[in-house]
Amino acid sequence: MAETNAHTHIQNKPAIDHANPLARTLHAKLDYDQLTNCMRCGFCLPACPTFRETGVEPESPRGRIALMKAVADGLMDPDQAFQDQMNHCLGCRACEPVCPADVKYGQLIEQARDAIEDHAEHSAPVSGLRKLIFKGVFPHRSRLRLLGKSIAFYQKSGLRSLARGSGVMKLLPKSVREMERILPDASGQGVIERLGTVYPAKGEPIARVALFRGCVMDVLFAETNVNTVKLLSEAGFEVVIPREQACCGALHAHAGEMEQARDLARRNLEAFKDAGISYIVSNAGGCGALLVEYDHLLSEDPAYREPAREFSDRVIDVSRLLVERGRLPSFADEEANAANPVTITYQDSCHLRNVMRSSDAPRQLMKQVANVTFTEMCEADRCCGSAGIYNITQPEMAGQVLEHKMENARDTQARYLLTSNPGCLLQMKLGVEKHGNGSPMEVKHVVDFLYERIAGGGTSGKP
Ligand code: SF4
Ligand code: SF4
Repeated sequence: MAETNAHTHIQNKPAIDHANPLARTLHAKLDYDQLTNCMRCGFCLPACPTFRETGVEPESPRGRIALMKAVADGLMDPDQAFQDQMNHCLGCRACEPVCPADVKYGQLIEQARDAIEDHAEHSAPVSGLRKLIFKGVFPHRSRLRLLGKSIAFYQKSGLRSLARGSGVMKLLPKSVREMERILPDASGQGVIERLGTVYPAKGEPIARVALFRGCVMDVLFAETNVNTVKLLSEAGFEVVIPREQACCGALHAHAGEMEQARDLARRNLEAFKDAGISYIVSNAGGCGALLVEYDHLLSEDPAYREPAREFSDRVIDVSRLLVERGRLPSFADEEANAANPVTITYQDSCHLRNVMRSSDAPRQLMKQVANVTFTEMCEADRCCGSAGIYNITQPEMAGQVLEHKMENARDTQARYLLTSNPGCLLQMKLGVEKHGNGSPMEVKHVVDFLYERIAGGGTSGKP
């Protein structure tokens, strides 16, 4: 199974009969053209958080590409150190926009992880957990809903206080304990349960658009999904929410579960194909970045190649759609005033910035809010260390990256730190709790911040 894969790239690849099974799989799966496109200029090094933390070449994009190529060329075996270097990568893709050779690093690291996962020998608990998360829960909407209800019950019934008081939490890894502390209130009711599958535009519709509701988003950030729909409506868009849509597959792709990611992509193509829409709107940078690359993900599937390209072409981030096509309402912070404005800052979502290439639109929106001063955070474009489940699988590196991030966040003295991705939001909340020095800084999604500040309350009926 490991040696036969849909993503076999053979154009310029040397024919090498690798004795090592993982080397054979890597040789088959890695895009050799992309490996050779790297001209080793090093422009990507200063952009890479893991290189900046360690100063070590194998922890850089150039170093990782060199390691992959050395394995593909039969010059080295992919030992544990090789696998560690691949797993230390945050997948933030800050190395891509700065690369003069346009090396598709994100695709290379996913191919490498896919190959490593084919040969991974996980312990029984890890293997069981992966199966539960990737196959048992995330692809199934009803199970996600049940998970949301269970977390909500845990949070509201007193069980949480009991667990924290009894010391049972100490049995869990530190990274999981930390996440438990900052988890937002879960909901058993997602955006469709609250608003239905069609929500009208305020005034003459500019366009009919579809919301990509996500999986984690619709359980832990259901309110943000609701606010996204209402904000789009206020800006003149009719919003549909296709009921059959699935998880985007980003967590699967980043964890080397590419076949499952492709299955989820096919389900989403089917779910949106008859919706009669101009745009597919994402409010989570991590999801949107995979949705815009469904064309690549399914490029070797003849039945879905063309539908995937059409789908990807229509994906857009909510901020960008609002700025480029929306009839924006007025925004104002009514608790502040012009003489005493409230200060806000923004942490880029790496995937929104580096893959969807949207960094100006959220800033433009934030700057439109009356009684608000926008202060740019130093290195706001650098990864916060969240990176999917990286903060759980690689807590040490994630912790280092976060600590530096929070030094910069504190320097802004902002009352609100805004972001555009649920993983970044949780990571920044954790950062404020651990390194905020008692700061009252509040972390919010840009959409929630804006929707709560529609001057006059808007017409959608705020919660
Ligand atoms: S910037 Fe691009 S070409 Fe230069 S070393 Fe990095 S990946 Fe290679
Ligand atoms: S994806 Fe991010 S962490 Fe990984 S090599 Fe590129 S810049 Fe470094």
